[in-house]
Amino acid sequence: MLNKTKQNKNIKLDSLMPLVTYAPFTLFPTPVPKEDFFQAVAVQTHYNTLVDKISRDPEFLQDALASTITVDDFTAKLFKIHEQILKEGRSQSIVLGLNRSDYMLDQREDGMSSLKQIEINTFAASFGGLSSRTPDVHRHILKVAGRLEESQRIMDNNPAAGLAAAVAKAWELYGSERVKRKIKPNFFCLCSRNISTIRKRFEDVWKTGSLDQDKRLFVNGQEVAVVYFRNGYMPQNYVSEQAWDARLLMERSLAVKCPDISTHLAGTKKVQQVLTRPGVLERFFPDQPQVVEQIRATFTGLYTLDMGPEGDKTVAMALASPDRFVLKPQREGGGNNIYGSEICQVLERLKESTERMAYILMDKIHPSPAHNFLLTQGTPLQISNCLSELGVFGAYVRQGEDMVQNECVGHLLRTKSSNHPDGGVAAGVAVLDNPLLV
Ligand code: ADP
Ligand code: MG
Ligand code: MG
Repeated sequence: MLNKTKQNKNIKLDSLMPLVTYAPFTLFPTPVPKEDFFQAVAVQTHYNTLVDKISRDPEFLQDALASTITVDDFTAKLFKIHEQILKEGRSQSIVLGLNRSDYMLDQREDGMSSLKQIEINTFAASFGGLSSRTPDVHRHILKVAGRLEESQRIMDNNPAAGLAAAVAKAWELYGSERVKRKIKPNFFCLCSRNISTIRKRFEDVWKTGSLDQDKRLFVNGQEVAVVYFRNGYMPQNYVSEQAWDARLLMERSLAVKCPDISTHLAGTKKVQQVLTRPGVLERFFPDQPQVVEQIRATFTGLYTLDMGPEGDKTVAMALASPDRFVLKPQREGGGNNIYGSEICQVLERLKESTERMAYILMDKIHPSPAHNFLLTQGTPLQISNCLSELGVFGAYVRQGEDMVQNECVGHLLRTKSSNHPDGGVAAGVAVLDNPLLV
């Protein structure tokens, strides 16, 4: 990886050294019980369906987020876009969903582990690319260490291919719809050989983007079939009102959005909490009790902080034993959660204020630690007590009522020192790993 801020065309090779680094990884793969691993894989297509169903249920999203959007400006701004799209009517019936459901294996009293969801990311779920490369790294290390049998047990993993295939499918459907409408008959034939991609900032889209009378999106004069948002999940990503205007422009367009605004909202932590309320999963799967059971089995306790007796109870519970919980705002990207005594500080300050509704409370999950070496540039090599988080990638494409594709496309294992409560590779805490099924 090159440090972008220091790029210089005349760099000599030896001066590159401090600028080039590697993605951090564990020296050895981490043992993961196969029952837990396959449970996470098996539930993924149901999570895909659930996210998709939530995104198509404006009444549910309105009810679930009503309290949050009165106090959380960022979620409120997203919600406003969502409302505008509903008012105008969605222009595109093709939906592309790429997500990653994250879990930790909670250590139970009987000595077994239990797969518990940390969160689901419906926006820019990352490491599909790098986790396609890590199996070979661990295979090699284990071989060198003389652990041949284990080396052969490292599973293949290629989320990047599965995610890209779903993007390609959405692109193809966009093209074939266009052919049907006879707007430009050659479009599909020409592009199917080579999907071209462009990477733009919100500001660029604001400057050079436009919609034609059919709401087709053009950026720099090129028609866009699929918008994949790599950015836009944090308030800091919207540096100006122009960035918000650009998001709205893309949302209104005929381009397939990944995610569209309602799928973005379906991935909020408030929605995650509301899903654990009695009867909510049944709303989405009325005739599939086994699906409800499969999803619900991965839930841990999540509690509302809305105003009222239920929220008051949550406050009292958290203040009484803060170490049992994690306090979460509606934010993404790692480093935003609140733990331990800080939970008391925040809740003492906010407990009488509606501002507490910007958060949810969650049971802390306690995975069993394992020893490993975390290889991060610039840190001395030492054995650490580590905790791991398993992510499973989902990809789906829907066209109108037809779920064209719904798959689990790979996994990710991230490991961090148990000294850090919060994780995240981008946040500089967790490193890439591979599960070694046991
Ligand atoms: P983000 O969207 O910022 O990634 P997460 O909900 O994934 O937010 O939380 C960030 C990190 O905090 C996780 O990767 C995990 O390490 C830790 N964490 C979050 N929730 C829990 C929990 N309930 N129990 C234990 N650790 C948690
Ligand atoms: Mg997240
Ligand atoms: Mg996370």
